This record gives sequence, C-alpha cells and structure tokens, in this order.
Amino acid sequence: MDHTGSAEPFSIEHASALDATDVLPDYRSDFHIPTLADLKRPTLARPPTEGLSRPCTYLCGNSLGLQPVRTGDLVNVFLTQWRTKAVTGHFVDHTDSPLPPFLDIDDHAAKLMAPVVGALEAEVAVMGTLTGNLHFLMSSFYRPSKKGEGRWKILLEGKAFPSDHYAVESQIIHHGLDPDEAMVLLEPSNPHRPILPTEQILKTIDEHASELALILLPGIQFYTGQYFDIQRITAHAHARGILIGWDLAHAVGNVDVKLHDWDVDFAAWCSYKYLNSGPGAMAGIFINEKYGKVDTEGSTPKFWPRLSGWWGDDKSTRFQMTNKFVPRPGAKGYQLSNPSALDLAAVVSSLQIFNETSMTNLRQKSLRLTAYLEQLLDSMALRRPGLFDIITPRSPTERGAQLSIRLAPGLLDNVLEHLEDEGVIIDERKPDVIRVAPAPLYNTFTDVFRFCQVLESALDKASKT
Ligand SMILES: *Cc1c(COP(=O)(O)O)cnc(C)c1O
Repeated sequence: MDHTGSAEPFSIEHASALDATDVLPDYRSDFHIPTLADLKRPTLARPPTEGLSRPCTYLCGNSLGLQPVRTGDLVNVFLTQWRTKAVTGHFVDHTDSPLPPFLDIDDHAAKLMAPVVGALEAEVAVMGTLTGNLHFLMSSFYRPSKKGEGRWKILLEGKAFPSDHYAVESQIIHHGLDPDEAMVLLEPSNPHRPILPTEQILKTIDEHASELALILLPGIQFYTGQYFDIQRITAHAHARGILIGWDLAHAVGNVDVKLHDWDVDFAAWCSYKYLNSGPGAMAGIFINEKYGKVDTEGSTPKFWPRLSGWWGDDKSTRFQMTNKFVPRPGAKGYQLSNPSALDLAAVVSSLQIFNETSMTNLRQKSLRLTAYLEQLLDSMALRRPGLFDIITPRSPTERGAQLSIRLAPGLLDNVLEHLEDEGVIIDERKPDVIRVAPAPLYNTFTDVFRFCQVLESALDKASKT
C-alpha cells in the first residue's frame, strides 16, 4: 500500500487518488478541453441535438497547447480597445482594461515571460516567430571569420528540428561558407535510441573548440524528449571562448530553466507548445544582459551588432524618425516591428496563468505525472514484452514532461487509429514513434491512466492483426 491507499498503480482508483491528493491548485478548469464530439464533428458549431460528450485525453501540449478560457476574453478586450479607441488605443491607459495600451503590450508580455525562463525582465523580448528569431539572433551571434581562419563553424545536432537545421545551413551560405564544412553535427552513437550524452557533447566541443564560432542546441530535444544540461554545456563552451544559444521550443513552460543564472548567451522559443498561446503565436527571445548594454557616452552609441528595426529604438525617440538608431537597452533593443497586439493578447492571457504559479511548482507536478506515466508503461511492458520501448532518458533530470515511445515495427498505424477512436490525442513521428506529454497545467493522473489503458488495448488489437 502507498499513501494513496491503493495497492495497484494501474487502476483508475489509484489515478483518482493521486489527483485528489495533488498539491498544485486546479488550473485544468482554466482551459478548454475538446470533447470527443468536438473532435469528431465535421463542423465547428455544435448542433442543438448533440448530447453531452466527455473531454478527450489530450497529451499533445508539446505540439499545440490547449486554449486558456480567458484568451477569448482578452482577445475581445483587444477588439474593444481597437474598436472604440482606434489609434488612441496605443497611448492611453483604460481604467477597466486588463490590457495596457497597444504601445506597451509587448513589454507587458515580456515582463510575464521573464520568470517563466528564469531571466531578468530586461533580458526578454516577445517578438516574431521562432525560426525568424533564430535568424535574427544568428545575425548577431554568428559572425564567422574566413574559412580556415579563426572561428567559423557552428555545432548543432545532426537530428536537429528541420527548421533549425535550415536556419543554420542558410546562415552559413549567407556568409559565403560551405555548410558541408562549416556545420559540425552531433550524431548519437545508437540511432535506435538517439540520446546525446553530455560527455559526448563536451568532447565534440573540445575537438572543434578553436574553430567553433557558435553552438546551437535544443533545451529539450523534440524527438527524444532529452533535456540537455544547459548549465554545464554553456559553461564548457564559454571556457573555450565559444558563444552558445539554446532553442527552447520544447523546454519553455515545461522545465524550470534559469537562463540568467546559467549565463546563457541567447535563447529563442515559440509560445504555442507548452505556453498555450495559439498556433503560430508571437515568440520569445532571451539576450544575456551583457549583449543588451548600450553605451551612449561617446559620439556614436556602442552596442552589440544586430539587424535592427524601429521597434528596437529607444522608446523616447522612436517616433522622432531621426534615422539614428539608438537601441533600447536589453533584449527589447533587438525588436524590429510593431508587434501584433491581437496576437499578444493571447500570449498575455496564457502567461497570466503561469504567473499565478511558478515553474518550480509546475515542474514538481510534471515530474510526478511523467513518473506515473513511466511506471504504468513499465508495468505494461512486463505484461506485453517486445511491443514498445521508451527512448526518452530514464533519469527525471534528463527529461521534461514528454516520453517518446518506439513501437515494434508495423504497429503504429493501427495503434493511432485505436487511440483516435477513443479520443486520445498524442502525436506520432513516423515510422514508429509516439510522443506523449502530460502538461502539468491541465493534465491529470487520470489522463495518464486513461492513455495507458487505451494504449494497452490498442497494442493488443494491433499486435493481433
Ligand atoms: C516547434 C519547433 C520549431 C517551430 O518553429 P516555428 O518558426 O515556430 O514554426 C522550431 N524548432 C524547434 C526545435 C521546434 O520544436
């Protein structure tokens, strides 16, 4: 017997008891969870004849987070502000509005974002989109010397997310270099379980140390769910004079990163995965305070190089149209364009929820949810040997919420069909991997149990056909 009073972990009673004794306040009711009927209906609108339907089991927040209930309200506030105030909505505070004037809404979003990534407020900006931001950041932080002289190479994973690969490759070409020579690719020794041990990463850095201009790695690997040792790898790179940036697409809102304390040079992330801001929503960047300094002592201001736009201009002179770029100090001096206030209303609404709790609390809940998922999968593997393997690292410190499961050959399509029929939403990477991510804000131990129960029957069916 454990503290929940139930002996058998693989039971709805045990899962419900874990939910009942959970210490994190209930945020699930802050989200819209699609019902089975919602998902199966060919229309968006619900016909009046449709009966009640139960919520789906949504374990796909690593791909697209669910919609916070308050997002509709805040988007409506934006629409009202625009409708009733037009251009004056940029400048005037409204006593009954939860949103600041349009002109300040990006700063407001950055202020809410900073604690989520362990950054100083000045080190964060909310702007653009992830791949675009990676390009902007590389324009600042990848400044290669000539081929064969000094630092001109970039280290990244061989199996990086394709967009990151394309961004790095095209930056190298943009500088007149050859990607075959300038890209140093980290390859896992076992392609079947493609984890990159920290020791291997450090060793590869050492092998190329004098030629590396930049390292770009993911905080959490999208495919395996591996959580990289950001602090240790960053310190190792710095000790060899190499700049290092992190793609936090799968880490932000998932694990408790401390970008400032870990002395990361720069980072970028999207806000539609664990950050629940909606498809393609405006993204975030981190710029270490070192690279945000602006020295206006001399005749020309001195600052770290960047591709610039008017939104990075000092706020007090932005509208003077002088053609003299003096950036705002900090990450906001890297902004380019007037950001979409419509989009930011969704980002702000989602970040409000994160600010009602903390990443420390969410991570604690997440560790328990994922450990329960692992426990149930392991017990299932004993009953059904040979049908699947967990490829995500087994150590909780080396992973976030997600477990990636490799199915035995030929099972994937049938398993997916069964999961879909039962209203279980996860995502697949062909030919044989499913990724399952219980998000601590809205997923429950009961969701995890239900997923495992449905997976077990799906595996039964699929392995018999
Ligand atoms: C999700 C994801 C992206 C997506 O980039 P967008 O520019 O937002 O389309 C890029 N890189 C990684 C590692 C991702 O996980």
